[in-house]
Amino acid sequence: MDYSKLRVKRAGGRPLYEQLVETLEGAVEAGELKNGERLPSERELAGRLKLSRTTVAGAYRELESRGLVRSHVGRGTFVCARPEPSDAPFAWRGKVSASVARLGNSLSLRHLTKDVLNMKIISFAASSPSLECFPVEAYQRATERVLHRSRDAALGLSPTEGQPRLRELVAARFKTRAERVLILSGSQQGLDLMARCLLDPGDSVVMDRPGYVGAIQTFRAAGANLIGWDVLRADLGELEDLVMRYRPKLIYTDPTFQNPTGRVLPLRERQELLKLAARYRVPIIEDNPWQETYLDAPPPPTLYHLDTHNIVIHLSTFSKIFAPGLRLGWLVASEYIVDQLASIKQYEDVSSEGLTQLVLAELLQGGLFDDHLAGLRKEHAGKRDLMIKALRRHVPPRSFEFNTPRGGLHLWGRLNEGVSARQLLRQTLAKGVAFAPGEMFYSDGGGRHELRLCFTSVAAVKIEEGVKRLAEILARERSGAAGRGEYAVPLV
Ligand code: PMP
Repeated sequence: MDYSKLRVKRAGGRPLYEQLVETLEGAVEAGELKNGERLPSERELAGRLKLSRTTVAGAYRELESRGLVRSHVGRGTFVCARPEPSDAPFAWRGKVSASVARLGNSLSLRHLTKDVLNMKIISFAASSPSLECFPVEAYQRATERVLHRSRDAALGLSPTEGQPRLRELVAARFKTRAERVLILSGSQQGLDLMARCLLDPGDSVVMDRPGYVGAIQTFRAAGANLIGWDVLRADLGELEDLVMRYRPKLIYTDPTFQNPTGRVLPLRERQELLKLAARYRVPIIEDNPWQETYLDAPPPPTLYHLDTHNIVIHLSTFSKIFAPGLRLGWLVASEYIVDQLASIKQYEDVSSEGLTQLVLAELLQGGLFDDHLAGLRKEHAGKRDLMIKALRRHVPPRSFEFNTPRGGLHLWGRLNEGVSARQLLRQTLAKGVAFAPGEMFYSDGGGRHELRLCFTSVAAVKIEEGVKRLAEILARERSGAAGRGEYAVPLV
């Protein structure tokens, strides 16, 4: 088959991958692609047709699910227009849905959590508050009280919207009504519910660039077209241009100690953002797990509290203030949206875990919560300072520029002199240190030289050792990159 004759229409046409499926299917039917013929590799065809590799991979998977081609790991993809012999190995790869196929092999949340249980690795990758601060005894006592007094509510099924007691306590803390609160099995579930509720394939989403990897993955799986808004510039004129140009179905932002950059959107910009969203009638998802994690001064009010148009859906979690393993989060939104999201949630998990909800309610009510937060902030500020001191001591000058986080759990930085974060990670993993490479936080391939370090997840005594190992490898990588001519060293 002569692949140079293949054509796909870019402007105003149907999705490229659909066009490619149709063309290849036609070629199989017309006999131009013969049974047993090997298709070009995904990379090769993508290069020839100037398409992304994801588009070609999506088309191949679709053809596979239609039984027209068959992929063999390491050998390639072959036309199999005739039925497979019944003893051929079953090809699960071709059976996965289009939304799963869309995710491809990109770096994801799973990569961040991969090493957390490996005692040989100092992981600055996954984000977790200091678990040393978790109030173990108070939690044990609260669990006993709940099992004793409210056994059936704790161990039976809970309402999909959440345990009424927890909804009320979250609402009171948030100065809203319980009907506006939906309890979630982690705020990641909230992102998934909102994607299902608000997005159709092909819709545009304007989101932070760089932005939270879990949001990128979730919106991408929903088939959304992701448009990045530069969070560090935070230029509202630029945002307005994007909104006018792409007519997004929603704006997603993490305005307070943003993941990954740590940036806080100032009050005036918050007000402008809300006005803009109201003018164009675009809902805002305010992902706000960090509001209580400030290290110096409290941040400005949330978008939700400043909103007078009922256009904000506010998302938060106990993961960053208690423990991510509890898998409990919440969202606050209009009652209509809470109702819609609860209808979808029932298909996912029926309800979030009842016992944990009631134990957390007990802790919120008992007044322990604010003391716990104060202790956590102190511990986190100490660890931040330790990490910064270690970076200043060990990292070669000017090779890594980073911010000083004022809240949240991460430090964000940029590797200078052409060093790639992914390449660096490969080396540091071999020496037992993990971090999150910047690429994960970009939906468009940016971030090659950036990286995120979580300063709270590792015990204080291990921070310096982890940074030292990272710095040693960075020093080697720099000279390697220089040797390969990957950056221009000033010669004078
Ligand atoms: N949003 C942001 C911005 C996050 O950083 C995270 C976790 N890292 C989440 C949502 C998800 O948190 P969880 O599901 O643990 O509540």
